[in-house]
Amino acid sequence: MNATNDIYALDALCDLGNTRKESPVGGPWQDSTRVGGHLMRIELDQARCEGHGLCEEAAPNLMHLDDDAELIIDVPEVEGDDLAKAQAAVRVCPVAALRLA
Ligand code: SF4
Repeated sequence: MNATNDIYALDALCDLGNTRKESPVGGPWQDSTRVGGHLMRIELDQARCEGHGLCEEAAPNLMHLDDDAELIIDVPEVEGDDLAKAQAAVRVCPVAALRLA
């Protein structure tokens, strides 16, 4: 066997079971790594929350303060643009009462 044959043999071995190479764009293996495609959950630590409302200003479509200054998460699961707003809300909270999981 010469070097060229070795390369062909290795190439054939690499193709065995290699579905990724043959998967169409957007196949299942790509979905799990799609940027911005993950649903994330907004979690509130009610005991920490002091009702500043800065998070509401950052993401008014996702959360609001009620009449008693209790934060209500209106959209608990977010992705895409809403995820970016939720991340901003987490960042501005002065007492770290919000997180994304
Ligand atoms: S910014 Fe933080 S402390 Fe203020 S309402 Fe939002 S979660 Fe609560």
